[in-house]
Amino acid sequence: MNRPKVFLDLDRTIFDTDRAIEFWQVWAKYYDIVPEMCVAERDQFYIWKDETYMHDMSNQLRSYGIDSNQAYRQVIESEMSDGRLEMPYASELVTWLKGVADVAVLTYGPDDYQRCKAALCLSLVGIPVVTTLQPKLEILRESGDCWLIDDKDLGVKPPDNIHFVQVISPDDIVVQDKPWPIYSSLKAVKEYLYENLY
Ligand SMILES: [Mg+2]
Repeated sequence: MNRPKVFLDLDRTIFDTDRAIEFWQVWAKYYDIVPEMCVAERDQFYIWKDETYMHDMSNQLRSYGIDSNQAYRQVIESEMSDGRLEMPYASELVTWLKGVADVAVLTYGPDDYQRCKAALCLSLVGIPVVTTLQPKLEILRESGDCWLIDDKDLGVKPPDNIHFVQVISPDDIVVQDKPWPIYSSLKAVKEYLYENLY
């Protein structure tokens, strides 16, 4: 039997993106910066596209005269890479999925910064990471039958080959019915996949 293909989003699905502000604490050991100021200036480096934004971390680092590749290496070599920045239950979900499916990360954003964040997730070791600046549905349209686990509302009903499961923060309120299952924890997502993956 073919193993199902499962694509996992990175930001706010596997990686706790809200805690990326802690990177500045690491960089403050190497560079003459004030972490709180850098955090406050983040929104000057947002790139908006189609009602969604990404933080251009490399550009922000460069604006302080910091080599972004070196900075990402410093984070990866720091205590940040001990798994502390993974979302709750990410490790259990990914470990289980590795045994039953072909798993890949599919993440939207600049390649260098996305790979830095993925490298901090211990559970993703050995899993391919695909980064894109195109809408994910365009990428997956040609992927055959596959699953996508993502915190972001797709906006439109996906094509039939894409089985989408949304994972939202427990604090978020679902305002309307969606044509896909929505869960507020990765534990609940795992239970759903356990019943439906095959
Ligand atoms: Mg996300």
